[in-house]
Amino acid sequence: MLKGKTAIVTGSTSGIGLGIAEALAKEGVNIVFNGFGDTAEIEKLVADTGTKFGVKTTYSPADMSKPDEIAQMVADAGAVDILVNNAGIQYTADITEFPTEKWDSIISINLSATFHAMKAVIPGMRTRGWGRIINIASAHGLVASANKAAYVAAKHGIIGLGKVAALENAQKGITVNAICPGWVLTPLVQKQIDDNAAKKGISAEQAKAELLAAKEPTMQFSTPEQLGGLAVFLCSDAASNMTGASLSHDGGWTVE
Ligand code: NAD
Repeated sequence: MLKGKTAIVTGSTSGIGLGIAEALAKEGVNIVFNGFGDTAEIEKLVADTGTKFGVKTTYSPADMSKPDEIAQMVADAGAVDILVNNAGIQYTADITEFPTEKWDSIISINLSATFHAMKAVIPGMRTRGWGRIINIASAHGLVASANKAAYVAAKHGIIGLGKVAALENAQKGITVNAICPGWVLTPLVQKQIDDNAAKKGISAEQAKAELLAAKEPTMQFSTPEQLGGLAVFLCSDAASNMTGASLSHDGGWTVE
């Protein structure tokens, strides 16, 4: 049923966003890629995905911290049926030492970008009477960890924002749901593992095991492919009456 629809997946040049973009493309969805990286590598990724899955793929270089560029990305995409707000960054420090500019960029990319993108896509979705919005929150949208003030605030915020959008579109054929992953071994988390290993003078493998042991009872990472599967489910008919939900995929992190 998703064949021929169009999705914007923000931050899809890497990690979870890429996993979701590929899972949707596999279902026949045309993909607008977005995110930073090496230009030649991005061009190859966009072309290869199109060829592999027989879908139309394009790329928007929009910087998610810039509302005008977000509006332009949506305008260039044409009819957007699916919006996945995934782009995100991390920075860790005690509140008293948290750089103000890091606070501002995390709030703008991890939270405000979702507001701007939803504002731009919802009118078209209402006209067509169908839309799926998936916000990539986090276990940190439900519970906190020390040293992640901006990230935790943004991720709690994106869940609240999504609930408002779910209510405002409840009878318009549009669902808005949040996915809350635990640890996923992407560049964003690898950096935290490497920083911890350096700080404690332990190996990256030990730091990885410590990271899992601290939060995930299953001692397993979730994968971008698994989260892609969950995103496809949220776009399917089986999920048409699910809206405003926050779905944990976190190895039991938030049940403790
Ligand atoms: P990642 O670093 O692999 O990917 C982040 C993507 O966002 C990249 O494509 C990057 O280019 C893009 N991006 C960053 N700043 C951008 C900007 N200003 N404009 C446009 N694109 C930008 O990270 P990831 O782990 O795949 O994270 C993706 C999302 O999942 C984030 O919102 C993150 O908070 C969330 N998340 C990750 C984990 C995890 O364990 N990795 C857990 C929970 C939630």
